[in-house]
Amino acid sequence: MNKIINMLNKKLNKLELYQFENLIKYNGILHFITARNGGISSKPFESLNLGYKSGDKPENVRTNWKILERNLGLEDKKIVLLNQLHSDKIVIIEDILKDNSIYEKDGDAIITNQHGILIVVLVADCVPIIIYDKNNSIIAVVHAGWRGSSLNIAKKTVNQMKRSFHSKPENIIVGIGPSIGPCCYEVKKDVVKHFTDYKYAVIKRKNQYYINLWEINRAQLINAGLKESNIEIAGLCTSCNIKHFFSYRNKHPTGRFAAGVMLK
Ligand SMILES: [Zn+2]
Repeated sequence: MNKIINMLNKKLNKLELYQFENLIKYNGILHFITARNGGISSKPFESLNLGYKSGDKPENVRTNWKILERNLGLEDKKIVLLNQLHSDKIVIIEDILKDNSIYEKDGDAIITNQHGILIVVLVADCVPIIIYDKNNSIIAVVHAGWRGSSLNIAKKTVNQMKRSFHSKPENIIVGIGPSIGPCCYEVKKDVVKHFTDYKYAVIKRKNQYYINLWEINRAQLINAGLKESNIEIAGLCTSCNIKHFFSYRNKHPTGRFAAGVMLK
């Protein structure tokens, strides 16, 4: 992933955004992962908290969204967020949304073929995944914590793209974003039992179990037919990089950072 420091936000800390190297070369989309810098929220949500349900003041979250929208030139765009459920529910947006407000739908993945609609997942340890069918111009975002990963949500999202939009897996490019890494994601046996098909992604250290959600999601995407070379893993652990990303496991309450993608 590349780090992009946007200097427009001069009064505040620099707004820090990340982009995937394999997605940045496509002019048909705008995509980004936000970080902590550049917002107005104070501790423990400092500073670019984009999650309304984090416990932060709603007016601060709203201002943080405005900062992001202004810096990315999204003021007149429609934004779709999810009421994330740790499920495998996929929201498909095939119609033009009517006004410019922020929409919220129940689910953990969004797929759209509509231009000018920013689709977003919010995270603070769970895995954000950005998906782009470069031939059919279809985009998706996925929120995959351990529950979503155990429910195969990444693979199901690709399969839904195939069914709804005739996507061919060989044309699909994916970025797997920052999340809690195998270094820090200690889990109990009741979580491990959901990943018996992914033995290589369950690591035992000093009688404790750790899970590699990045590899589990990569395996699901390859299983859905994607080329391994089209999948980029950021490899950034949120808990190890607490200065740059929100990490619920490291310290909570905390804020949420965003993974967003839009067809231009
Ligand atoms: Zn870590």
